[in-house]
Amino acid sequence: MVLVCASANVHKVEEMNALLTDIVHLVPRPAELGEVHETGSTLLENAVIKAEAVAAFAHADAIADDTGLEVDALDGAPGVWSARFAGEPQSDARNRALLLERLDGIVNRSARFRTVLAIVRADGTVIHADGTCNGTIALTERGDNGFGYDSVFIPNDGDGRTFAELSSDEKNAMSHRARAVVALRELLPTP
Ligand code: IMP
Repeated sequence: MVLVCASANVHKVEEMNALLTDIVHLVPRPAELGEVHETGSTLLENAVIKAEAVAAFAHADAIADDTGLEVDALDGAPGVWSARFAGEPQSDARNRALLLERLDGIVNRSARFRTVLAIVRADGTVIHADGTCNGTIALTERGDNGFGYDSVFIPNDGDGRTFAELSSDEKNAMSHRARAVVALRELLPTP
């Protein structure tokens, strides 16, 4: 199955490639396509908006991922607004710093990553699946791997290391994105 990937984030694309490699050939996002504005109010709406834009531009089937980090002590924020938590211009470093600042002195640090994956076929058909990874927010940043909020997220299924302290294989064994891929596979035709 050939899918054009709606994400330009090299880390996300690497993870999706590793997770889907046996059933999907991922084609890079067309360089000529400008930014697609994420105007939805849910992860699903945004994933479909991104996949639809790429499918229409490339006249091909496309896949998009939308991810949010939900922090219980912040009533689920930043959630769907995770990418621009600290405002414009988008900065992972400022997002992490703001998150640690908001949680300063707060004992309940439980959180979860949620990913929605959407495939939009060239004929407009939509397939979607989601995945969750529960964890806690670290007191300080730890680790150099990964991207986004990885250095402040400690998955419950791990050994106390943040995602950024895990190898990509270790992260891919338990991540929200990996779980969304497992669920998506169930909906895809067997090769
Ligand atoms: P989006 O899905 O690209 O809109 O991502 C939303 C925000 O979550 C961005 O700040 C990303 O850097 C961050 N993000 C997405 N996936 C992950 C992940 O697997 N680990 C850490 N941060 C992530």
